Amino acid sequence: MAVQRTFSIIKPDATRRNLTGKINALLEAGGLRIVAQKRIWMSRQQAETFYGVHKERPFFKSLVDFMTSGPVVVQVLEGEDAVAKNREIMGATNPANAAEGTIRKTFAESIEANSAHGSDSPENAAIEIAYFFSGSEIVG
Ligand code: ADP
Ligand code: MG
Repeated sequence: MAVQRTFSIIKPDATRRNLTGKINALLEAGGLRIVAQKRIWMSRQQAETFYGVHKERPFFKSLVDFMTSGPVVVQVLEGEDAVAKNREIMGATNPANAAEGTIRKTFAESIEANSAHGSDSPENAAIEIAYFFSGSEIVG
């Protein structure tokens, strides 16, 4: 498997509790490099577009409310098999089902406020990276 890039978000529940460094340490310990990173406050429209695939789900409005409730840290992560590797480091969506030592098991407050986002495929990673970063902001 070649070197790949994926898109990551440190979510508002984690920035509120000052966990950016602790989450970054888990990403780096897992072998991923943070090749772009910025702290932003997502607009409602940005969050709705980003999570557009979930717009018919019952939790959509609550998810958009949550993702716009405070600052987030958007990131590009690089490494061998980065998409799958980041999903492994994050753990399952519901922290109750996440493995020991994962970001979500360690830090998540709930299935919604689950501290981190990670792209689910290389194709979606490319779309999500381009949504938040220009090429010159990514330094590998
Ligand atoms: P993942 O982030 O693990 O890829 P999904 O893409 O299925 O999970 O969902 C996107 C986000 O929506 C989750 O990370 C979580 O914040 C929220 N979410 C997912 N399922 C639920 C649910 N049943 N109730 C509330 N929020 C949810
Ligand atoms: Mg997802």
